[in-house]
Amino acid sequence: MRTKFIIDQLIDIHGYVSIDQFMKLAIREYYANENSIGGRGDFITAPEVNQMFGEIVGAWCASKYLERDHTSFSILEMGPGRGTMMLDILRATKNVPGFHENLQSIILLENSLKLGEMQANTLKDFKEKIIWIASIEELEFRKNLIVVANEFFDALPIKQFQYSNNKWNELGVIRKTGETNFEFAQVRQSALDFGQANDGDIIEVSPASELVIAELAESAEKIDALIIDYGYFEHDGRPTMQAVKNHKHHNPLEELGTADITAHVDFKGLSYWLREEGFEVKLSTQGEFLKENGIELRAERLIQSGAKKEDIQSALDRLMDHSQMGTLFKVLEASS
Ligand code: SAH
Repeated sequence: MRTKFIIDQLIDIHGYVSIDQFMKLAIREYYANENSIGGRGDFITAPEVNQMFGEIVGAWCASKYLERDHTSFSILEMGPGRGTMMLDILRATKNVPGFHENLQSIILLENSLKLGEMQANTLKDFKEKIIWIASIEELEFRKNLIVVANEFFDALPIKQFQYSNNKWNELGVIRKTGETNFEFAQVRQSALDFGQANDGDIIEVSPASELVIAELAESAEKIDALIIDYGYFEHDGRPTMQAVKNHKHHNPLEELGTADITAHVDFKGLSYWLREEGFEVKLSTQGEFLKENGIELRAERLIQSGAKKEDIQSALDRLMDHSQMGTLFKVLEASS
């Protein structure tokens, strides 16, 4: 309700709200209120599907720790949700020589108080090492940093621009004439020219994501980062902002603040900004990444130690299959 009130006020003042403003407001209320993530929530993320996901991410962290010969380092997770992936990472690295001794801080970037409380509960055995930050600007400079983020960037606001009559126009949300409901519309001519396109094509850009990358790049001497999310390498000109409620698509303009609103992540953009900052970048799909980092072996081990074969197989299918999360989800590995 609060979001609708604010958006109504902003439309009264300015005539519209831009898509990024809209997303920012709608998501804030959503994460502050709802029990969103997991089987009973609105959507299931990979760490909530099965422990193997976080364990493979843990194996990746361990390999970076060993490659770099870290004598002291910190881990940052951006958008840790219920804390499940971090718990799996910390368990999977328990026997890696020196990993836990040299792990100085576990930094959690989280702006929802509710989810922060859940993380504190999930990670209570590690509470002396945890530092919460609510925005990336609060990140203090460190020597060595390992960064992980699953389904974080999709929650960051995007701007949308549409090509029509040889011009790019910014899209926003306005009130339908004579109604209290909202609709999308071209609200102003864009100051930026994105070049020629087909009439009706939409381009999405995320200044908020660019800011996160810029802040991150300056936050440590050596950084290894792993970013996993659904997204694209090349955008196809169609809008990707979507809302999900109770595992179903939902109209993002209705019942504001009650559904999760996300946009597909522009992996080409993330790579570009990281390379500009001097990072080496490797891109793959989630299926390729999990396979390369040994998920099949991990699955066998779990079965040997008593896990139900069918459960493990269905988790593997869900995480890796082309028709499920395997291809739509992309992985970016970056090292400075
Ligand atoms: N990584 C988790 C949760 C994904 S949901 C998982 O895979 O299950 C997105 C997470 O990012 C939530 O924890 C949400 O509160 C957090 N988040 C979203 N936008 C944020 C922002 N601007 N700043 C900090 N945290 C944010």
